[in-house]
Parts: sequence; structure tokens; C-alpha cells
Amino acid sequence: MSLKNLVLLSGAGMSAESGISTFRDVNGLWENYTIEEVATPEAWHKNMDLVLRFYNQRRKQLFEAIPNKGHEALVEFEKHFNVHIVTQNVDDLHERAGSKNVLHLHGELRKARSTRNESLVYELKTWELNKGDLCELGSQLRPHIVWFGEAVPAIPQAVNILNKADILLVVGTSLMVYPAAGLVDYAPPGIPVYYIDPKAHEMAYQKRFKCISGKAGEVLPKLLPELLSEINHP
Ligand code: NAD
Repeated sequence: MSLKNLVLLSGAGMSAESGISTFRDVNGLWENYTIEEVATPEAWHKNMDLVLRFYNQRRKQLFEAIPNKGHEALVEFEKHFNVHIVTQNVDDLHERAGSKNVLHLHGELRKARSTRNESLVYELKTWELNKGDLCELGSQLRPHIVWFGEAVPAIPQAVNILNKADILLVVGTSLMVYPAAGLVDYAPPGIPVYYIDPKAHEMAYQKRFKCISGKAGEVLPKLLPELLSEINHP
């Protein structure tokens, strides 16, 4: 019997228990910066040093972080489901936990890309990316991140994955960043959708989801029996 498709849409809350701060959670700032200061093409042109420093700090933090129990639980799910992870996160904690199929919507912190040819993408060996670090064409490297205001090239691939879901888990995202948040609408109608987030029940418009208010690292390790019974006895 072929395995059912479990799709997980994850956001910054997925990595919160690994010590990586979320974004909108506390005060609308990301580690004390506004998104306009550090996560837009305008910021890059206006203050490249600050943007590089900001992402270097995020990357350094990531090198020191380890996957949490939530990431580990998803690897366990692969024994029972065909698991596809579509993540808004730029960290690599899903991969480091051992998940096989991970699609990054908003880029990857551990990679840099050419400012002249965006198909030239490089794995970074250290946490630092500095002014003067060049691609093979001789132009400055930038973080391999989809900034606010930029296109999200992985959306068609994500839609394709969502279309084939038999069960959908939405974990640790405020569902406020589009187009990523709109992906939930591409899941086939009627499939079970779980929304796992400490603030899940505050999301009034999410009435169509099965809301579980809790942390990813606490809820996911206990969820497998329920998911299996859901899929076997819908
Ligand atoms: P968000 O910051 O807007 O929302 C985070 C959500 O996580 C909130 O709803 C919060 O209640 C929830 N949360 C907090 N702790 C949690 C826990 N332990 N378990 C489960 N949920 C928890 O995040 P977003 O919706 O992903 O949007 C932010 C954008 O910023 C993303 O596009 C992402 O690219 C970027 N970002 C990425 C990272 C990362 O890669 N780890 C971190 C911060 C921001």
C-alpha cells in the first residue's frame, strides 16, 4: 500500500525551541531591527554593511543551534507517511534533523548568491559573508534570502506539493506573510488540516483548522497516533 502524503507548512515558531527567535512574536521586530532596515532590496542598496552584519549574526546563531524535538518528530513521521516539508524558515534545522524533502520558500541562510546572476548559488563554509566576497563573475555575493518585496520563485513547486496533500500540518507560523500564507488554500478541500501554534486558538479566521495551542516541540512528538487514526478512519 502506498503511503499517504503528509505536508507540513512550517514557520519561524518551528525553530523557536532551538533558540532561534521568531519574528512578529514579541514586538514586530526581528532581533531589534525592522524588516525595512534589514530584509528588503532597498535596505541592501542603502546599507549593505548592516544587512550583511544582520544575516551574519543570524547565521552564527544557526551554526550554534540544534534541531528540537519537533524537527525530530517529523523524521519519525516518514516511517508512516510520505512527508513533504514546505518551510518559510531560512534555517536548515529540518534537514539537520534528517527530513528528506524540504522546500525553502524564503531562501537559505547557509547559502549566498551572485548579485549579477541569481542562478549562481554557493554553500557558505563559515557564518561570515562580507563586502568583497565575490561570485565567479566578479560581483558581490548577497544572502540567498527572499527579501520582502521580492518574488518567491518556489511558489509553483509548493502549490504542486499542497495540491497532493492527504493531510496538512501548519506549524509555528502567524500566517501573515504572503504568498506563503495563501498556500493553505491549495490543499484539497476536506482534508484534515492541523494548526499547531501557541496562539492557534487566537486565530479566529482559522475555524476550519483543527487548532492545537502548544509548542511544536511538545505537540508534534505526541501527534502521530492521532494522525494515523485520522488517515485510517476519516
Ligand atoms: P512569525 O514570526 O510571523 O510567527 C511565528 C509564529 O510562531 C507565531 O504565530 C508564534 O505564536 C509561533 N510560535 C512561537 N513559539 C512557538 C513554538 N515553540 N512552537 C510553535 N509555534 C511557535 O513567523 P512566520 O510566519 O514564519 O513569518 C516570519 C518570516 O520571517 C518568515 O517568512 C521567515 O522567512 C522569516 N524568519 C525565519 C526564521 C527562521 O528561519 N528560523 C526566524 C525568524 C523569521
